[in-house]
Amino acid sequence: MNIVCLDLEGVLVPEIWIDFANLTGIEALRATTRDIADYDELMRMRLAELERHGLGMADIQRVIADMAPLAGAAEFLADLRRRYQVVILSDTFYEFAHPLMAQLQWPTLFCHTLEVEADGRISGYRLRMPDHKRAAVDAFRALRFRVVAAGDSYNDTAMLGAADHGVLFSAPQNVIDEFPQFAVTHDYTALDRAITRALELS
Ligand SMILES: [Mg+2]
Repeated sequence: MNIVCLDLEGVLVPEIWIDFANLTGIEALRATTRDIADYDELMRMRLAELERHGLGMADIQRVIADMAPLAGAAEFLADLRRRYQVVILSDTFYEFAHPLMAQLQWPTLFCHTLEVEADGRISGYRLRMPDHKRAAVDAFRALRFRVVAAGDSYNDTAMLGAADHGVLFSAPQNVIDEFPQFAVTHDYTALDRAITRALELS
């Protein structure tokens, strides 16, 4: 039995915070872990910015509803799900991903949650567990699934390494250079082929 584990942002949908910054014009929200290495500090800054601009959960979901999956992502995912079990492993939050998941026909998503007050204000966030992508892949393998994992970034390399086969999709050159053990793909046709080959040949 096979499971395909996919990262979400940069693989199926745009980087949500960057797109959110574009759509709202809030420049500070463009920052990523490349700018503020401490994730908790980055998240607290983001939540403070949302509050400063008076953006509650409903406003945020309205903005995110205007986002769309990457071109071809919905078709790629639908076709993959006809052939394999697919689980999306992401470091985003369910509350943000919701409008995009609707456009992807509700695939299975493991990610994190926000703490939302009754008035819609976001007061905090809760990471389900650290390093959950790798832990999920380890757990699937312990359940005797063969796992192919695909992602685009540093935060995916542990899950790619834990999988039977790891595939980089649309990754920056420095990640490709640093992790030569993973297959490299740049479009959905190549990604589909890499997944299929890994699962049918092994
Ligand atoms: Mg990503």
